Amino acid sequence: MNEIFLLKLGEVVLKGTNKRQFENKLRQNIRRRMKTYGNFDVYIMQSTVYVEPMDEQADVDGAWEACRSIFGLVSLCRCRPCNKDLDSIYQTVEEYLGEELDCAPSFKVESKRSDKAFPLNSIQISQEIGGRLAEAHPDCAVDVHHPAYTVYVEIRDLAAYVHGPAEPGAGGLPTGVGGRAMCLLSGGIDSPVAAYMMAKRGVEIECVHFFSYPYTSQLAKDKVIELARLVTRYSGRMTLNIVNFTPIQEAIRDDCPEEFFTLIMRRFMMEISQEIARQDGCGALITGENLGQVASQTMEAMTVTGAVVDMPIFMPLVGMDKEEIVTIARKIGTMDTSILPYEDCCTVFTPKHPKTKPTIGQVENAERTLDRKALIAQALESVEKLAVKFHD
Ligand code: ATP
Ligand code: MG
Repeated sequence: MNEIFLLKLGEVVLKGTNKRQFENKLRQNIRRRMKTYGNFDVYIMQSTVYVEPMDEQADVDGAWEACRSIFGLVSLCRCRPCNKDLDSIYQTVEEYLGEELDCAPSFKVESKRSDKAFPLNSIQISQEIGGRLAEAHPDCAVDVHHPAYTVYVEIRDLAAYVHGPAEPGAGGLPTGVGGRAMCLLSGGIDSPVAAYMMAKRGVEIECVHFFSYPYTSQLAKDKVIELARLVTRYSGRMTLNIVNFTPIQEAIRDDCPEEFFTLIMRRFMMEISQEIARQDGCGALITGENLGQVASQTMEAMTVTGAVVDMPIFMPLVGMDKEEIVTIARKIGTMDTSILPYEDCCTVFTPKHPKTKPTIGQVENAERTLDRKALIAQALESVEKLAVKFHD
């Protein structure tokens, strides 16, 4: 028989009425994801997702890799199914895991019986299979407290399943159960990590990027498209909205006091993002802001930039150290692209002495000569929508 995956659901959310919605979404996400790898059946029973290849052509290794980045799963087991009798179980362990036992100094068998009709209880199953294995592998000692290797036997409704140690899943909640939000994606290290973190909480992600050609190059834009593509490995496909920000930046440069440049620019970004977010059915904005990292990320600056929108702004990195953010960026594979040396529109007209403790009154005064409405309408006209496909 073929291999099959048993994927275990996060338990906290499996209560009450959430359960059905959670499971349906997860099954849908996994089905969509498995399509790339061939014909797989995906079904959920007893808080476990079964992913079963339906023919020989299915790319089982590729599918297994993909399962690691699906949110809503706490652990992943790659198993061999067999008939629910001791002889079949023992024979399957030998065939499937025998080599592991030959390499390990000690082992134990851990069994779980969710099919209560099975005549032996879990301790008896472990003793029976463990006894036979100990005889067949005399160099591998039984050690029930600190075994070097554990063989797992699960007696479930449809079959028995044999596997080695489980691997950790991506955690979080299935993408889509937490609504949809618009992430302001720059070319930096932080915002792709912010998008990933909110996707992990079950949020469907759309992105918006502000682009200032010719002050920022085509390469800078390509870099952001690549970052969005890397994020889709976790979030699923998304739309990347690219906004021509040049007229707004030039207007700010020409008409506003320099110390407020960044703040005014960020207020435009927020307001335009909220507008696109509304059109695309998003209920929140996401940024990679981090308290105290730069002048525009003080509490006062955040108050001023947040004041132009009424959607909630999620800042999942707000309380993290740079080190912690970088660790996640490396883990999810965005770091190498983020550090490519292309300028971002924020760095083009950076004030020498940015205001770190602005008030709303001061900023409104500094931008009073701008026709905000017209500039925003013009920017919204320029939006280019790119469908960013799923990436493994
Ligand atoms: P990042 O590493 O994400 O660029 P940062 O530390 O460089 O963040 P800022 O440049 O001040 O910080 O930007 C703060 C946040 O504003 C970013 O995390 C991002 O969400 C948003 N942002 C900045 N520039 C852009 C841009 N050109 N397009 C879209 N969003 C942007
Ligand atoms: Mg930046």
